[in-house]
Parts: sequence; structure tokens; C-alpha cells
Amino acid sequence: MNLEIDRDRLISEIEVLAAISDAEPPAVTRIVFTPTDLKARAWLRARCEEAGLVVRQDAIGNIFARWSGSDPAAPAVSTGSHIDAIPNAGKYDGVVGVLGGLEAMRALWRSGFRPTNSIELLVFTSEEPTRFGLGCLGSRLLSGSLPVEAAKRLNDGDGKSMEDVRSNAGLRGDLEQVKLPDGYYKAFVELHIEQGPVLERQQTPLGVVTNIAAPASMKIVIEGAGGHAGGVLMPDRRDALCAAAELILAIENAARSSGAVDTVATVGICEVFPGAVNSIPSRVRLSADIRDTDLERRDSVIKAMEYACSPISAKRKVAIHIELLNADAPAQCAPTVVEALSNACRRQQQKFLPIVSRAYHDALFMSRIAPTAMLFIPCRGGYSHRPDEYASPEDIARGTLILAEALATLSE
Ligand SMILES: [Zn+2]
Repeated sequence: MNLEIDRDRLISEIEVLAAISDAEPPAVTRIVFTPTDLKARAWLRARCEEAGLVVRQDAIGNIFARWSGSDPAAPAVSTGSHIDAIPNAGKYDGVVGVLGGLEAMRALWRSGFRPTNSIELLVFTSEEPTRFGLGCLGSRLLSGSLPVEAAKRLNDGDGKSMEDVRSNAGLRGDLEQVKLPDGYYKAFVELHIEQGPVLERQQTPLGVVTNIAAPASMKIVIEGAGGHAGGVLMPDRRDALCAAAELILAIENAARSSGAVDTVATVGICEVFPGAVNSIPSRVRLSADIRDTDLERRDSVIKAMEYACSPISAKRKVAIHIELLNADAPAQCAPTVVEALSNACRRQQQKFLPIVSRAYHDALFMSRIAPTAMLFIPCRGGYSHRPDEYASPEDIARGTLILAEALATLSE
């Protein structure tokens, strides 16, 4: 099999897709189900059809482009990612996995390879949480990780329900039909930019992902008592912000003392009410995001945070409410798919590193219904979700080549 990636065509397709955007270049903004996103989807479907793939779309807008194998009844091998982009993002996040996946299939076809299992390109709806406040909407529904009722309750910030937005985008099918039947896929591989600095620092062009970390996110509200900054003396205070400060440090401490480098915790939002220089903070709203590759270890940080609350609330006479917004379980990648990727690297004499995915991806949810792994390529400085996000044509083509090799192994 003589696999050749058409690098120039792949890079020019990435440029064309980047131009379908609501932001000034080089920035890319493509929010799910906006006219711009719909235009990008139509363009992409046309590219898939041009390649001879059979394209279908489910009720949430996940796109499936299939190359039928010689045993069409056998479970398919799948690859893909997303094309939605947060405001002011870059060209490569998600897109490399979609257009790279398409080029991998075209390269296999050109090489004369004919698969036994069908190979399917998957383009997931709304990987980014921008519009509906929840990431990986398409893959959550595909994998049955999100109840349909909960999906129906989602709305965008502008007061439109997800159901209305979806139907305005021409998607009127039954969401109950989105979940894939058991055993639908034999394997799933997602090619993606690393969105971190490890590969670049190690001067290694490829990362085979062994674990995908997952966040638990929480909203924390601390209720104290307000008052005049001059009038209320220190012994009488119930300052919500001072309590929040103690809790933030307790969360940091719990993550630092987990004993594992993979445990991370972040308080990224701190809203203070009423927010005046001469007023004691009566209420504080915090966010907490706790991630790990190990579920037990991550949940023990959540417990440590909860334990920290009672002494703080007793000492400072404040009430602390924690609302768990979501807590997806981390995933371990499937040894068969990790092996297929590692062997592909060896066959092509490419250096690679086993690596942890610290951001989460559609692959996290796909791992619940199919043996799954990911392949990372470097991105400059580890930057992502910003206009100067960059992956070199060489790295993109190399990742696509390894993906094609692995898809061949998994589907032959
Ligand atoms: Zn992504």
C-alpha cells in the first residue's frame, strides 16, 4: 500500500473552511447552527460527496460520511472531530481531525486499499459549549451520555430553546434516534492538535493518547451578610468573600496534595455582590473545575473541597452551597486502537510519545460506545482557542498519514 497524503489540497481546504467565519481573519468564529456554521457544513458535505462518500445527518446534526467496506454489515471504523469554533478561535482545533480524516480516506482510496469494515467520517455537532453551555452535545447524544430530556431543556443565551434552534437549522428528526446502537463502531480515532506544549517541547511530532482527562464542574454560592464597610466591626462580620478566599485555597491545596501530576483544579469565576468598595461582600459566586485522568482521585478532590466547607462556614458564619453542574468520567483509551496508532507510527518510522489528553474531546464520549483513542500533532506554543493557533503543514500531513495507516489496520 503506497499511501500519499495530498498535503497541498488538505491545507487549502483548511484555509477555505477557515474563511467561512464570523470573525476577521486569521480569527475564526463559527458557532453551531448559525448561518455561517450551516454554510460550512454544506461545504463540507459537498467535499465528502465529491470523494464518493455516502453522507447522512442525524437529528442533532452529526454528519456521517461513509465508505462502504466489503462487509457492510460489520461494525464500521470511524474517525472525525468537530468544525464549530468558539469566538475568536483558530483554524485547526477540530478541523484537522475532520479534513485530515477525509484526506486519510481519500489517500487510502488512491492507494488501492479497499476496507473490509466500512470507514466512516464523523463530524460532531457543537463540541464547543459556546451556544448551549454544554460541550460535546453531538457525541453525548450519540453515546447515550446525555438524556434526551436534558438535551431538550438546553437553550442558547438569547432565550431560544435548543429544539427551536435545531429545527430552524432544518433538523426535525427525533432526538431519541440519535443514540447509536450497541456495537455500531469497531473503533473510533480522533486526530487533533495537542492544545498543549508537550510535543513541541519534546520535539516529537506525534502523540498517541492513552488517557483522556475529564472535568467535574461546580457552581459554588457563599452567603454571608453585607453591611457598611465602616459601620460593621470585625467581630460582627460574615464576609462572604473572605470565606471564598479560604475555600479557593482549600481547593488548590486538595489538588496539589493528590499526589498525581494529572490532578488540576481551577476557580475561574469569582463574582462578588454587591461589588462596592465600601460594602462588605454579602454573597460570592465561584466556579470550580476539577480534572484528572483518574475518576477516584478526581472525586476525592471534590470530597476534600466539601469537607473544607463546614469549618469555613462555622468559623465565618456563612452558608456554602455547592451545585455539581457536570462530572464526566475520564477515559482510558482502548489498547487495540492505541496499538494500531503506535504501530502505524513505527511502520512510517515516526517518533511518537504516549500522551494524556488534558482537554476533553468528543473522543471522551465515543470511548463509552466504541474502542477509542486519539492522535495528537503539535501546535505552536501549545496555543489553541486563539487566532494565532498554528499547526504546520508537515505536522498536519504526518498526522493524517498515521491516521490513514491506523484506519487501514483497523478496517482490513
Ligand atoms: Zn477540539
